[in-house]
Amino acid sequence: MVDKTKLEFKAMTLPSWAQQMEVAEDGGVRYERKKGSNVVYALNGKDYSCLDCGTTILAVDRTHSIHDGLFPLSGSGEVAHEPIPYCPKCEKKPSSNGGFL
Ligand SMILES: [Zn+2]
Repeated sequence: MVDKTKLEFKAMTLPSWAQQMEVAEDGGVRYERKKGSNVVYALNGKDYSCLDCGTTILAVDRTHSIHDGLFPLSGSGEVAHEPIPYCPKCEKKPSSNGGFL
């Protein structure tokens, strides 16, 4: 069992509107967490599981509206999708509404 307090997390390079994530590696295993969160996700194969409870990590598809028009809120109506990971046992389901960019 990994001591998650000993993992050295580094910020991932993400757009400012995205959920900020941090990543660590230990013994060849990749760990991720939301910035400021205590819930750590460990990558097993292609699935992430919660380091605390072992539950498979789910994700909500957060939608961001991209307003690139001349006037605010007049944009093309395009949206950006961003998967927000969460542990269904240790965390509340994140909001799928990312608001306006
Ligand atoms: Zn959990």
